[in-house]
Amino acid sequence: MIVIRRRSVELYAMERLLVLLPASHEKRKEVGDAVYRLKAGRAGEREVDKYVRLTRIPGPAKVLTDLELEIGPNHIVQIDTVILTPRGAWILEAKRYKGTLRYLKNPNRLERIDSNEEVTPFPCPISQLSTQIRALEHWLADRGITLPVQGKIAFVSNNLWQGLPSDAPIIPVRDVPFYLQQSFDHLPEVLDLPLFHQLAEQLAKEKHRFNPFPLCARFGINPNTLKRGFLCPTCHARMRFITERTCRCEACNFQTLPDYGRALLDWFLLIHPTINNQQLRLFLGLKNKYAATRILALFELLKVGTSRNTAYTIDPFVGLENMQLKRRMKAGEGSGR
Ligand SMILES: [Zn+2]
Repeated sequence: MIVIRRRSVELYAMERLLVLLPASHEKRKEVGDAVYRLKAGRAGEREVDKYVRLTRIPGPAKVLTDLELEIGPNHIVQIDTVILTPRGAWILEAKRYKGTLRYLKNPNRLERIDSNEEVTPFPCPISQLSTQIRALEHWLADRGITLPVQGKIAFVSNNLWQGLPSDAPIIPVRDVPFYLQQSFDHLPEVLDLPLFHQLAEQLAKEKHRFNPFPLCARFGINPNTLKRGFLCPTCHARMRFITERTCRCEACNFQTLPDYGRALLDWFLLIHPTINNQQLRLFLGLKNKYAATRILALFELLKVGTSRNTAYTIDPFVGLENMQLKRRMKAGEGSGR
């Protein structure tokens, strides 16, 4: 099966936030921990992807990644992986924990005991999976479709378990192909091909319902406490202009063209969804409004407001290419040569 999982804009933004937070900032630990968790989560998902790619089933199948289904006002259910076929849908939830895991009831929860006997509680992955299954069932029912929805929690790590119910929907990640193939074989065909393709297309659009940006607001960080200006790509210290177009890092002497796109994107993802000429000037320490105008004109930005109130914005989920702002084509570019 073909699996396409795009880089996470959220993870990119969190890593940038870490770059822009000064070393002594009080939120560094919290953001650092969040980056670590998100990275571990993505690594788990990519491991599951590897095994989904090894899965062969007869007939069409569509793998949908990073879905966000809205099941009620302000209630969004995130699903890492859905495999949609004309016979049924499968949800896979990747989990990767270090240490011994203890399953506890009333309320259902999971505890990890690491090598130092330290106990960390986690939300119950089994309840999480049933919520995801119900969300997808509702989504299908809303479209008049009855299709079996099943799922498993795929453990990427090898753990010692305590108190795990024998019918727990948990499998080691390497069993994913066998699980999918076998449960597929036991189901009859429900959807005809046109309906299957139509559903796959609709489901693929269930993304980005939750917008985590700007991250400063989410983490309760005052944007004025972030580093300003152009930051060195190697050591992240502030750079100074030594000519009109070249900056040098005061800490490591690295010299480069200033990366305007990176800085603008930092603003949109971390500080505020829109930027105007004056805000850009202050953020980057530019000498006048013409310099800011020139920079803003380099990129494909959406204009909001008029004349004196003009500001610019982007859609962080569709406006980026390879985690960079799309550049505006200059006259003559892209005309064949
Ligand atoms: Zn440097």
